[in-house]
Amino acid sequence: MKIIAIDGPSGSGKGTIAKEVAKRLNYTYIDTGAMYRCVSLMSLRENLKETDEKEIVDLLKKADIRLTNEGKVFLNSEDVSDKIRTMEVTHRVSKISSIIALREVMREKQREFATKNSIVMEGRDITTEVFPDADYKFYLDASVEERARRRQLQNEEKGIESTYEEVKAAIEERDYDDMHRPVGALTRTDDQIYIDSSNMEIEEVINFILEKVGE
Ligand code: C5P
Repeated sequence: MKIIAIDGPSGSGKGTIAKEVAKRLNYTYIDTGAMYRCVSLMSLRENLKETDEKEIVDLLKKADIRLTNEGKVFLNSEDVSDKIRTMEVTHRVSKISSIIALREVMREKQREFATKNSIVMEGRDITTEVFPDADYKFYLDASVEERARRRQLQNEEKGIESTYEEVKAAIEERDYDDMHRPVGALTRTDDQIYIDSSNMEIEEVINFILEKVGE
């Protein structure tokens, strides 16, 4: 069983790329951000505050989160693939994901996936905390301007109203939260293969990764 771990900031293209690499290698694709987003959605539905740590951890313990290789997300059998991508859920998720006890439970759930199949797992702490001994570790990056441009395009395609400035400010805020939390912070390390995709096509990035993985 092989593990390919990919970390990087939001909008770096991790999702698209990890999904496609998994497909071509016939591995299971795991979007860990979607798992944190499910908890964010549940906490909103339960009217919890971001500081209700124990209640939030309990929500995760009871949750049945299922991820498909096509990127669909099921929470207790409900298809929440779109519901976890709203601005409200996104805004809350970085705060919630700084809860240390939540990250511990999450890591255990994430490690379970690798007991069944070879995986491509993407997130913020996969190369450092979830699978520090992964077979291949990548850090996928892009400039904040490029990431905001990509996200704004996605929003337009989905009919979500936003301006480039709003999207850029939200990305900068999330970068800060994701890089500065005490546990599970997004970090660059010497043993990750660093990819700056600012000026690369998706296909180029996929091929680069497949070459490194040697399959
Ligand atoms: O990747 P995505 O943008 O969907 O992730 C949503 C949020 O979930 C991130 O901003 C981050 O706060 C959190 N996250 C995390 N650890 C991961 C994956 C995501 O803390 N491994």
